[in-house]
Amino acid sequence: MLHPAAPYNEHAVRQEVEKICKEHSLDFEHDTFGNVLAKLQRAGRARDLVLAAHLDHPGFEVIQLLADGSVLVRFLGGVADNYFRCGVPIRLMPGNIAARLWRRKDGERIFEAKLSGADESGGIRRTPNASRIPKGVLPREAFGVRGTPALSIRPTSPTLTLPKFAVWELEDFAVRHGRIHGRACDDLIGVAAILATLIELKRTRARVNVIGVISRAEEVGLQGALNLAAARGVPANSLVVSLETSRELPGVKMGEGVIIRVGDRTSIFDPSATRFLIEIARELKKTRGGFPFQRGLMSGGTCEATAYQEFGFQTAALCVALGNYHNCAERNRIKEEFVAVHDVCGMVDLLVAAAHQMGHYNEVTGRLAQRLRKLLAEGRARLKATAR
Ligand SMILES: [Zn+2]
Repeated sequence: MLHPAAPYNEHAVRQEVEKICKEHSLDFEHDTFGNVLAKLQRAGRARDLVLAAHLDHPGFEVIQLLADGSVLVRFLGGVADNYFRCGVPIRLMPGNIAARLWRRKDGERIFEAKLSGADESGGIRRTPNASRIPKGVLPREAFGVRGTPALSIRPTSPTLTLPKFAVWELEDFAVRHGRIHGRACDDLIGVAAILATLIELKRTRARVNVIGVISRAEEVGLQGALNLAAARGVPANSLVVSLETSRELPGVKMGEGVIIRVGDRTSIFDPSATRFLIEIARELKKTRGGFPFQRGLMSGGTCEATAYQEFGFQTAALCVALGNYHNCAERNRIKEEFVAVHDVCGMVDLLVAAAHQMGHYNEVTGRLAQRLRKLLAEGRARLKATAR
């Protein structure tokens, strides 16, 4: 979470994912779209459990450096118009350059941003995480001429790193009172849950086949996941579980456990795969003397499960309740997102248990039918006796 990312600009956080994989001797590879596939294959030809999460978060792409030292940026992702207020601090990347949102250009989500160092109005404070634009880092020649077409950024020297994207200037990561706060809980919490699950399964030498699919550009229309699904980047018979943070809606509550997500804004997921996860959560509750979990239709957004399902994969989804969804807080303020640590740990526990039970999928999903048959038999005589 210390690495800012925006759609198509996930490279730094992806590098961190790969570093963690290396540290724990987990195999990983890129597909042609730049998605990361982290693999633990220890169960021969058994069916794969695929865990899906995404690297990106709503943010800005830099489209042009203007002659007066300001920057043209375009917002990518789902944030309502009234959050783009003049003066909101943003951070240009790479380089951690402090800037502020300025004028909006036309109807599109294109804004002029002023570098904090270049702002004539003065009085702009240094933000704790970003620095003023250092002298000489972006020389005058780096800036194009006003009115030149967008996407005209060209470094003037080979060593010059020009900003490519921007994020809201917010705290990257903090844990306070049992909650994780940060710019991008969505979906780095999902990514962290995949890594924690793989690390735990590897550590315990579990005989499982698990593939973590850590995708790109979800916030602009599930692009990494759609392309991977269409290209059959994982075996066609995989069980795919999408992992997300999801806006806290009535019916679920932050801190009351991982949410088995029966559907999103667009789809209802596979009933049998969903039942599989519910049965495993029930079992954890029994064997551990308690395992909080919730079940809900999280209709706040569309998640990657819809992409996999539409391409024929058997699909279910888990999420944790998210506060300040897409950094949107009360009174149109941009703030850190937050989740409950316990909910995230519950997600990992459930995934580890699900991986272990993949070989018993039919037995696990058949338990409901058994319980219903028992009820049928128990009730029959009494119903008949009291029928008149
Ligand atoms: Zn997300």
